[in-house]
Amino acid sequence: MIIDGKALSAKIRGDIKEEAAKLKAAKGRAPGLAVIIAGDDPASRVYVRNKILACGEAGFYSVHKEYPADVKKEELIDAILTLNGDEAIDGILVQLPLPKHLNAEEILPFIDVKKDVDGLSAYQQGLLLQGTPDLISCTPNGVIELIKFAGVSIAGKDAVVIGRSNMVGKPMAMLLLGENATVTVCHSKTKNLSEVVKRADIVVAAIGRAKFITADMIKDGAVVIDVGMNSVGGKLCGDVDFDAVKDIASAITPVPGGVGPMTITMLLKNTLKSAQSK
Ligand code: NAP
Repeated sequence: MIIDGKALSAKIRGDIKEEAAKLKAAKGRAPGLAVIIAGDDPASRVYVRNKILACGEAGFYSVHKEYPADVKKEELIDAILTLNGDEAIDGILVQLPLPKHLNAEEILPFIDVKKDVDGLSAYQQGLLLQGTPDLISCTPNGVIELIKFAGVSIAGKDAVVIGRSNMVGKPMAMLLLGENATVTVCHSKTKNLSEVVKRADIVVAAIGRAKFITADMIKDGAVVIDVGMNSVGGKLCGDVDFDAVKDIASAITPVPGGVGPMTITMLLKNTLKSAQSK
């Protein structure tokens, strides 16, 4: 089975649009998302444009703040503080990566944790760690939805996550644990990676290396979720060797059209949730 992230995304976005319209009818305002971007990284610009478009399609209010590559840290913090106090804004997102002279760890903590729709703050990640998540990091949350959409029950399964970033790998492991999987997290220092991955019923690849996960690493019938987005010769390519692995896996996400569309959908979901909680 090829897990169709576009189809699931379209269905969930339809539900979100209905909920947003209900909220507007009840409270006189739509959910609001603010996106801050600094610099002119082409991929980041595409992501931001897609987020703003998705907001429009869901009937959300959105604000898009653009800054030059040489923006000062203080300017971004001022923008965040203003948005924190803006009643029309339920979610604030700073597009990463920031220009090299800026340190995200010195800027992101200024976002009001209740508006942290990227789920990257210590508060939101702490809630996830404690098993009481609120605004969950978008990409791993989308992965859980995709696994469930494929009809796979997670409880009791051996899940292997390759990657341990704060944005993907670590929250992914916590979410799978929350679904009662037995979770192993692999990284660049993991010994015998192939053997570890081969034991998994569910594999989530979040590495950032094109076609790194090969067919010989996958157990027959495993569920394979490919978070990777790598540009190879101008084409988007995942971390999994899709063509070879699809014949061994029972279900697999393609790149593009798998995890990617779900990330923005989960961002809309978090923004709606934040608006509903006020
Ligand atoms: P990251 O911060 O660079 O983390 C990569 C992880 O992979 C690290 O934990 C690293 O281990 C591990 N790794 C690197 N080489 C390895 C190796 N040879 N063996 C085992 N593990 C290895 O990347 P990220 O932000 O988590 O993103 C991962 C991928 O997902 C990227 O391709 C990114 O573009 C993509 N992504 C996609 C979406 C989406 O919406 N589809 C969203 C976010 C990210 P160490 O910790 O030991 O260095």
